[in-house]
Amino acid sequence: MRTAVVVGAGMSGLAAAGALARSGWRVLLLERAERVAAPPTAVVLWPNGQRALAALDPDGGWSAVWSPLPDGGVRRPDGQWLVAPHVRPGTGPAPAAVHLEDLYDALIAGLGDGVEIRTGFEVTTVVAGEGRRPAVGDGRTVIEADLVVGADGIDSRVRAAVAPEAVALGAGLAAWQAVIPGFRVPDLPGFVGGETLGSGYRFVAIPLGPLRGGVYWVATAAGAARPESPATQLTLLRRWFAGWHEPIGALLAATRPEELIPQGVRELRPLPRAYGFRSGPGGVVLIGDAAHAMPHHLGQGACLAFEDAATLRSLAAGVASGGDLGAAVEEYSRLRRPRTTTVIRQNRRMSAVVQARGRLALRARDAALNHMRPRILGRTLDPVTDWSPPD
Ligand SMILES: Cc1cc2nc3c(=O)[nH]c(=O)nc-3n(C[C@H](O)[C@H](O)[C@H](O)COP(=O)(O)OP(=O)(O)OC[C@H]3O[C@@H](n4cnc5c(N)ncnc54)[C@H](O)[C@@H]3O)c2cc1C
Repeated sequence: MRTAVVVGAGMSGLAAAGALARSGWRVLLLERAERVAAPPTAVVLWPNGQRALAALDPDGGWSAVWSPLPDGGVRRPDGQWLVAPHVRPGTGPAPAAVHLEDLYDALIAGLGDGVEIRTGFEVTTVVAGEGRRPAVGDGRTVIEADLVVGADGIDSRVRAAVAPEAVALGAGLAAWQAVIPGFRVPDLPGFVGGETLGSGYRFVAIPLGPLRGGVYWVATAAGAARPESPATQLTLLRRWFAGWHEPIGALLAATRPEELIPQGVRELRPLPRAYGFRSGPGGVVLIGDAAHAMPHHLGQGACLAFEDAATLRSLAAGVASGGDLGAAVEEYSRLRRPRTTTVIRQNRRMSAVVQARGRLALRARDAALNHMRPRILGRTLDPVTDWSPPD
């Protein structure tokens, strides 16, 4: 039986481990934290991410955990529409919001009996290269496998061993996320969520649907991560977004400091030269943020991670039934590298819209968004959301 070690039990590691096990591999999932736990936040799953999850596990019951997003449009801070609601960009089903606790639960349920999870195991050494069977270790134990999957996030140790040219850099902005639980959401008649763009600031509010309840919001501002305590940062956010249309003020007022997740936004520049590497008779692959971390402008990081895992699943199935692992590892890279480059290019275009500052830049941005017909908006997102799993 083929063996795989998956390093990192975030969304991409959980998805890949389950997919490999369902394809007949024996899988060891290593996580440095003492337990596998979702951050208390949410993500938007675009149609490509939804298709990837369905391909990963058709019995995953995904539609029970996510909630289709009503279209809230795009506004200016004074509430004026830049893109009116009911104009759904892209093709395919509506994007959906999901709380990460629910998504992790579904991914963990999909691991079945074929995956051994070892927590409290921080990978510090990675062996890979010509003539060397891949292995990882924590300084005490070394574990060899046919395939090592680097799903260990933006500061990946696995990537550092096989693609040291890729570097994690600050993207020039900071983000704050929070989920306000359903029982504390302020009364917001007619609230469907939506996005608001100011000068260097952005606020996105997302209802988490009738089953989970609550509201997820993400604020973004130009600059680096802030050093202050969460309570002080929340005060700053309330000041920065004071005067913006409701319900932004009400949502910030209802948020508690302990619910705030502040972070500097980073990206990989350059990307790794490849995502798959032969190593002796086996190989190493990079997935998720370890391979292609990018700013969250288009909300695609997790969606791409699920695409990675779905692609790996289809290649791994062939290898389990006697195929060439080295060739599969190279094919993985051949399929995924151009795809993520396309999404990153669209994401950079979006960054010009989201990060516009100064009167002239804002006027140009607002006019451009104002005149975009739904069809054109759709076309902008199509290359991102139009993805189907390999057969
Ligand atoms: C503000 C914001 C909003 C976002 N919104 C969206 C969205 O709406 N839609 C979307 O699709 N994406 C979104 N994203 C992106 C998404 O959150 C990430 O792409 C995704 O979390 C990456 O998952 P991952 O499993 O690859 O990495 P991580 O979540 O970083 O997981 C890595 C795991 O590996 C473990 N690990 C790390 N190093 C080691 C080691 N040496 N040994 C063992 N274990 C290790 C870590 O503990 C962790 O559990 C957003 C991101 C941000 C910042």
